[in-house]
This record gives sequence, structure tokens and C-alpha cells, in this order.
Amino acid sequence: MAEPDPPPTTGEPADFIREIVSDDVRAGRHQTVVTRFPPEPNGYLHVGHAKSICLNFGIAREFGGRCHLRFDDTNPLKEEQEYIDSIKEDVRWLGFEWGEHLYNASDYFDQLYQWAELLVGQGLAYVDDQSADQIRETRGTLTEGGRDSPYRNRSVEENLDLFRRMRGGEFPDGARVLRAKIDMASPNINLRDPVMYRILHARHPMTGDKWCVYPGYDYAHGQSDAIEGITHSLCTLEFEDHRPLYDWFIEHLPVPSRPRQYEFARLNLTYTVLSKRFLLRLVSEGRVRGWDDPRMPTISGLRRRGFPPEALRQFAEAIGVAKRESVVEYAALEHAVRDVLNRTAARKMAVLRPLRVVLTNYPEGRTEEFPALNNPEAPSAGTRPVPFSRTLYLERDDFMEDPPRKFYRLAPGREVRLRYAYLITCQEVVKDAAGRIVELRCTYDPATRGGSAPDGRSPRATLHWVSAPHAVRAEVRLYEHLFRQADPGAGGDLLADLNPRSEEVLAECQVEPGAGRLAPGERVQFERLGYFCVDPDRTATLRDAWAKVQAREG
Ligand code: ATP
Ligand code: MG
Repeated sequence: MAEPDPPPTTGEPADFIREIVSDDVRAGRHQTVVTRFPPEPNGYLHVGHAKSICLNFGIAREFGGRCHLRFDDTNPLKEEQEYIDSIKEDVRWLGFEWGEHLYNASDYFDQLYQWAELLVGQGLAYVDDQSADQIRETRGTLTEGGRDSPYRNRSVEENLDLFRRMRGGEFPDGARVLRAKIDMASPNINLRDPVMYRILHARHPMTGDKWCVYPGYDYAHGQSDAIEGITHSLCTLEFEDHRPLYDWFIEHLPVPSRPRQYEFARLNLTYTVLSKRFLLRLVSEGRVRGWDDPRMPTISGLRRRGFPPEALRQFAEAIGVAKRESVVEYAALEHAVRDVLNRTAARKMAVLRPLRVVLTNYPEGRTEEFPALNNPEAPSAGTRPVPFSRTLYLERDDFMEDPPRKFYRLAPGREVRLRYAYLITCQEVVKDAAGRIVELRCTYDPATRGGSAPDGRSPRATLHWVSAPHAVRAEVRLYEHLFRQADPGAGGDLLADLNPRSEEVLAECQVEPGAGRLAPGERVQFERLGYFCVDPDRTATLRDAWAKVQAREG
């Protein structure tokens, strides 16, 4: 894997967040810039998270600070080790490293609980016996204030007693909650006595059975930031309205540092959906073959599709960071992928829909080798020998028996160039009983070795090919967008917009011998076809399986 891009050393900050950080550093407000990426381990990361990872780890790197990886594991019902492992793998694959700074919100459960008792002691939090439904109903609306709970004015002693008994396991799930006592009439719903703790008799992956009360996101997040000395807590815009609450806890608790939250617009992409909850549904309902299905917008899916990590970083840099919501064209992501692969992917020859061609005047049993460029963009990549013989495969689409005008590829009586090899002319079309073309009989011109004619004649088409006796059979999977619409779900039903033709499996492909020796995850360009990646799945067939990096060439 290539090293991540070096930090920029000069120039204006690239976005408003880097501007804030840069101002803070210049004004001496922080010794070290500390950011964090705080995923909830309840699913695999997607390309939206990649934006956040590149922002948080990128800023830490650029300002010589550090970025923590913190699992926001406050909901034991949804969290799994598989997700924790995949998140670590994905962050590392993207080219970032947290070093010793791996944390869990659950590391702070003791401290969070003590601080909650402190708020109770100061009359700033109370135990509410209302049900979740009652709390929702009395919370008010965007235009109307909420109503006080009948339990709002309990004494400090009673609250402390009840909260301790909540913790002690005396009450069933949902019987009581701890709420911050702020302002039920606040125009900001988040300040209307938000729930801090709920009762949940559930085993936690990290703390086991120690706790039966768990803190909510709003209470856990800012305090975790403060404990870790996070200087800039970067999150997506939906948390903007939570910031006053974030600040309220920080102001009322004896926290060791005062982090500040800044919000940026989340990434939205056309033709896909960036929501863990929905992606989980696709996986659990079997609409895709798993979280890492190459059609998924997950980081693991894009990896399996052959997208290189530098392309995702380049994409994150190109789309930038702003405060305004927008939808980015999927094509912008593909552009970054092609840009990187064009520079780095080795070229190979492969035929996806093979048509047999016999060169009737080429000696039986003879093999020649032609040097083929590994990468015309990188001459230092050199050449490889590609075998040639009397029997070849050409792409079915490269032949037409009755070609329309402007079809310049192979047709009866017509001459074309086989890349790196010879000029050949189609002499005869062989069909089976059903009238299907099964073979072409052609002649080659021995004077055109290497692909150029001494008399200077030059066919309009140059075709790719593989030598039949040397070829390796392969399965190739072609991918299209996961959704047929640019804005899936606009009609109200996401599943109805799934693209039924998002995957096409071609089982009878033929690739040049060198392509059969590549390791899973290696990416190549099949000449004239596009970029492909060796799929790790060798269980379905004993043949090689390839995933097309993207279906449409720009
Ligand atoms: P989802 O909405 O997909 O379930 P989430 O916000 O619930 O995502 P978290 O694990 O809480 O997932 O997210 C971790 C971090 O990634 C958060 O800081 C969040 O703001 C950020 N993030 C999530 N989705 C996006 C996105 N589409 N674009 C940019 N950042 C995102
Ligand atoms: Mg979240």
C-alpha cells in the first residue's frame, strides 16, 4: 500500500474546520491538536465514515497532533466484536493509525456514573418514573414547549437513593431513567431534560454484567472527549442542535478539559445510501452477499470492488468539508478510483465473452511470445511476455457478421490488428446447427509481426485477445449501481429502488496466463475493458473470480 500523502506545508487552510484549528494553534490555545473518530460498533463503516476518518486523522497529521479511535459503545444491544474488528481493519486500510490511543466510551462508565451522581447532588439531574412513551409525549414539539414531569421536583436525597438503586439492579428495564434538569420550555428540544441514563439489564461486550444502567450518547460523548483531552470534536450537522447540551454538561461538570464541538455536512452520494441501519437491512435480508459485497458503499465493499485506499483519500480531499448539505455524484468517487488505477494498475489481456478464432495459415503447435507493456503510464513498469498461438479468443462483441457503418472491428473479409501481435483477416464464419457463430477462421500476415505492416497499411481497429491453449478460465463479475435511481427512496421505498441488475456474473471468461497468478485484492486493467480486482472468494468455483472495479468508463 502506498504511503498516505504528506501533509501540506504551505498555503491557506483547505476548509473552515482546518481554518479554526489553524487559528487555535496560532493563538496558542492548544499545545497539541487532538481529534477523535468515534464510531458506534453497530455495523461496518461506509464511505461517509471515510470522509470523517480522513478529516479527523488528516487534521491530526497535518497539525502534528493525534487522533483517537474511540468506540462509542453505549448500547450493548447492538454492538458486536465483528464490527469492532472490521472498523479497525478499515481505518488501517485507509492508511491511518491510532497507535496507543484506542478507547471505548465504556472505559469511562465509572467516571460518567460518578459525575451523574454529582449532578444529582447539585439538583441538576433527577430520576423520572415516567415511561418512554410518556416522556416522548410530554417533550413538546418544535413549536411547543414540553411539560414538566410529576417527578421533576424530587429531593436530592430521593433522587440519589433511586439512582443508586437503579444502578444496583432493583428495577426492571424501562422502569425509570435519569434526566438532566435543564429547561422543559427551551426552544431547543435537546435541552428539555434529556435522558442521561436508562436501565438495561444487558451484558456489555467490554464491561460484562457490571452495569445495568447505560449512559446515552449525549451524556457520554462530550465527557469522553473531555477525559481524552480532545481539542476539536468534529461531527456531522445533525448534532448541531445537540451542541448546547454538549456544552451544558461540560460547564456543569469538573471535567479535565474543555473540548469544543464543530459540525460539518455529512457525505451523501448518488445511487447509494449511507446509513448503517439500512445497510444492515440489506445484509440481514440477503439483498446483498454481505457487508463486503462489492456493490455496498461500505469501506470493505469498496475494497473488495478494487477501490484503492489512496483513491478514497483523494476523493475525501476533492469533495472537501463544508457546512452545507449536498449530494456528491458517485462519478466523482469513480473518477478518483480511475485516476489512481490508471497510474498504478498493471495491464492484462482478458476476454469476457470469448469467440474462438483459428488462424488457418499459422503453424500448428507453434507458440510465440510478444512483449506487452505493463503500464503505458509508467514505463518503468516494463513489459511481460504474452503467448500467441494458432487458436485465440477474441471478444464476441468485436465481431459482426453484417456490420453497420461505423463498426470498424472484425467482420468477414476485413483486416484488424491484434495488439502486440499481427494483422489478421476474417475469411470464414463457422456456425452450429442453431445458426450461432462458434468460430472464426482467419489468416494472419506474417509480415506484420509486432502489429505493423511494412507497406504502412493500418487497420482502424486494434483488438485484445488471448491465446486459447495458454489462457486461464475465470469468472468475472460486472457491477452496476446498487440502486437504479440517483436519489434512492425518493418515492418512499428504498428497497423498491434496488437495481435488479446490479451484478452480472460471466463464468466463461479467459484471461492471459499471468493474470491467473495474482493474489486476492490485486487490481489490474484488462485492456479495453476496464479495471478489475481479484476477488478473495475462491470457494464458489475453483476458477479465479474477478470483480470489475466499475462498470462505466469515463
Ligand atoms: P449512520 O448514520 O450511517 O448509521 P452514524 O452516525 O450512526 O452513521 P457513527 O458510528 O455514530 O455512525 O459515526 C461515526 C462518525 O462518523 C460520527 O462522527 C459521524 O458524524 C460520522 N459520520 C457518519 N456518517 C457520515 C457521513 N455520511 N459523512 C460524514 N461523516 C459521517
Ligand atoms: Mg451515530
